[in-house]
Amino acid sequence: MTLALNPLALTQTLPFLPLAQGDIDYQTERRAEPGLIERVLAEPATKVILTREGKIAVPRGQGELADYENVKMRLATIPGAYVAHDLAEHPQAVAMFLGSYGGRRDEHVVAVDITRVERLAGGSERGADDAFDEPEDGTNGGVIAGAARAAFAGVGSGARRGAGLLEQAFDRFDWVDLRGFAPHASAREAGQATSAISLSIWHNRQRHCPTCGAPVAAANGGWAQRCTNDADGRRLLFPRIEPAVITIIVDSAGRALMQHNAAWKNPTLYSVSAGFVETGENLEHAARREALEEVGIRLGEVKYLGSQPWPFPSSLMMAFKAHALTTDIRVDGAETVEARWVTPDEYTAALVSGRMSAPGKATIARYMIEEWLGHEL
Ligand SMILES: [Zn+2]
Repeated sequence: MTLALNPLALTQTLPFLPLAQGDIDYQTERRAEPGLIERVLAEPATKVILTREGKIAVPRGQGELADYENVKMRLATIPGAYVAHDLAEHPQAVAMFLGSYGGRRDEHVVAVDITRVERLAGGSERGADDAFDEPEDGTNGGVIAGAARAAFAGVGSGARRGAGLLEQAFDRFDWVDLRGFAPHASAREAGQATSAISLSIWHNRQRHCPTCGAPVAAANGGWAQRCTNDADGRRLLFPRIEPAVITIIVDSAGRALMQHNAAWKNPTLYSVSAGFVETGENLEHAARREALEEVGIRLGEVKYLGSQPWPFPSSLMMAFKAHALTTDIRVDGAETVEARWVTPDEYTAALVSGRMSAPGKATIARYMIEEWLGHEL
């Protein structure tokens, strides 16, 4: 059966986390179909999105929008039919079937990672410009309209010379990371980008079987890898996710603890307690341990708020709100160098004066702080 994921049902306290809004139907039952990627790419309503070095392709000119407020960004897309030929020429590209909207017969989305694509043709030729029809007014939603016309007219490969679409994409699109893209994107496209970037980072970092060291090949529509060693049983490998807890610590007076980390370049950035879960401990233990290590605070009740993936490179952030049993701050001085209790009014005043700045718009920390404040930042 298919399952249309609805994250809203899963995260009630923090229902609108930017990296946990995807509504695509994964169609997991299709992943093992032989020739799945080729078959899906041949369907007329299939869109291809591109990743490279942990970033996502957006139409040229949109990359610089990441730092602005109230601007919209969208994914650059290529019609699937046009990409099929290029994939055959570039076995280093990794194709990932992200799923479909509206069931089998409607829109499918395939992500292609071109990080390892070799740029054989040494640049693009003028003759290919028509394939990259990039209207300034954005009316076509980022689709390469010329490529679509060429592909569906059956002249795509014949008209193309020199560098193919995947090679040209290096220069023809802007590339932005998820922190820059998600706050400006629709929930649907932020979801696609999160899946595509998470998977592609894994494919680029894990090139060999962790058990036997043999090379691996993408499998299951790009959601897994298969070891190529018969002696190792050609084992199926799945992405490793690194669980992390993030905890907003609140005392009996309703104050929250804001911390500054030594590793942060922005000296005014303050956020909440966070750290990786150790092997063999549960989430609540990790939250209590991190609070004690970082700021010397003992936690009482720990309440789950929600979660979102954080593929930098492969974390899953699980958020908690915890009641502080003690208020005496002792920072560790290494990871955490500054920590302060603030009332909502004091925090707002610190933001306005510039003494503190809030975590970025894609972060779960920002939503945790907003939940505590009772309004958006
Ligand atoms: Zn192996």
